[in-house]
Amino acid sequence: MIVFTEKKALKVYLSNFKAQNKTIGFVPTMGALHQGHLSLIKKAQQKTDIVVVSVFVNPTQFNKQEDLIKYPKTLKNDIKLLETVSCDVLFNPSVEEIYSENIVSEKFDFDGLEHKMEGEFREGHFDGVGTVVKALFEIVSPNKAYFGQKDFQQLKIIKKMVKKHRLNVKIKGCIIFREEDGLAMSSRNTRLNKEQRNAAPFIYKTLKKARKKFTVENADLIIDWVKNQFKKHPLLTIEYFTIADEKTLKTIKNKESGKKYRAFIAVFVGEIRLIDNIRLKN
Ligand code: AMP
Repeated sequence: MIVFTEKKALKVYLSNFKAQNKTIGFVPTMGALHQGHLSLIKKAQQKTDIVVVSVFVNPTQFNKQEDLIKYPKTLKNDIKLLETVSCDVLFNPSVEEIYSENIVSEKFDFDGLEHKMEGEFREGHFDGVGTVVKALFEIVSPNKAYFGQKDFQQLKIIKKMVKKHRLNVKIKGCIIFREEDGLAMSSRNTRLNKEQRNAAPFIYKTLKKARKKFTVENADLIIDWVKNQFKKHPLLTIEYFTIADEKTLKTIKNKESGKKYRAFIAVFVGEIRLIDNIRLKN
């Protein structure tokens, strides 16, 4: 694996592959890699000739400075993991390399997708995501880029950005990778203590129960039921739970045939914020 920290050198390296008509797959990450990230890389490897992974903790997408400071940084281990899957290229730029001196976000209009859920509770988050992903796409010029459904709203927003800005890249969504007990893999899971880690699978267990209820009950009743389940829990505090139309991400009142729905949740375990979601069957 070749490691680049400078965009100029990476661009030169990748232009050689492009000249040979080779396709580039790209997996942007914030590091602290786990099997969920590796599943995206493996997908990219099946479909493209050369795979670039970026590890960059993007400051502009954090609405709380403390969360940015405490975000796990494990570059040595990340490199080891990337080598186990024979990743071709790692791009690990500094903040200055991406932003120069001006560490601010561009403002985006994602047709309202940015105001729901994560956007509502993390102000400016999706402007930060859009800014960094657009910058990384300009540097890597990938044919295909891979994103996890774990961050379903982010995946929708990236697709919207590509469409609106007419970027020449195909966005591929990948299924959520989970621990054996159902907890969605996340870099933030490493910050959980033992007691918190043991409690966290409650999130997915509750999502699965909500999915079952959705076949027979109205969305608003299920939303109340889920919120109540968390009120009773000693370690987990719900920030939001909603059942939304996959296309608009708007909370629904009643099901309509032919539409796709998903339940979305954000939960605090102590000060650690975890998100998850599940596809619902009508
Ligand atoms: P992050 O490093 O958390 O910014 O994630 C980088 C990419 O990996 C994003 O597209 C995430 O949606 C994806 N990802 C993170 N966790 C998982 C998971 N458990 N399963 C699948 N994809 C994931």
